Amino acid sequence: MSWKCKSCGFEANTDGKVACEACGYYDGQVLVLQSQETGKAIRVRISTTVGKHLLRTFAGEEARFASDSQFRVTRDSDTGAWIIEHAPDAKNPTFLNGGKLEACVPLESGACISIGPEKMRLVVAIEA
Ligand SMILES: [Zn+2]
Repeated sequence: MSWKCKSCGFEANTDGKVACEACGYYDGQVLVLQSQETGKAIRVRISTTVGKHLLRTFAGEEARFASDSQFRVTRDSDTGAWIIEHAPDAKNPTFLNGGKLEACVPLESGACISIGPEKMRLVVAIEA
């Protein structure tokens, strides 16, 4: 059995996988990243590399500390959980809840992403 993606129409997705194998679309939880500085937020539905160009649109002045690729948020295609990983070529470290992000870590509502321990703080919310 397979299922068809509502977003791109790809029909051969494996049963049991929650995210589309062609485009990453997932008919479920949305990841919200809200800037503590500006109060503005972005809503992420598919795996996304977050860098300074995207961050400048909502995260205010401190987005300048981000690199072209700062971190990547991906969805586990089996469980649907959102996972964050630091982009290896980013100049400044990505922190999660005040600790340096070293490996892929699942995100939870209320978590705080920052650049270094305190710059450009983003609060995570996961919405159904
Ligand atoms: Zn798709």
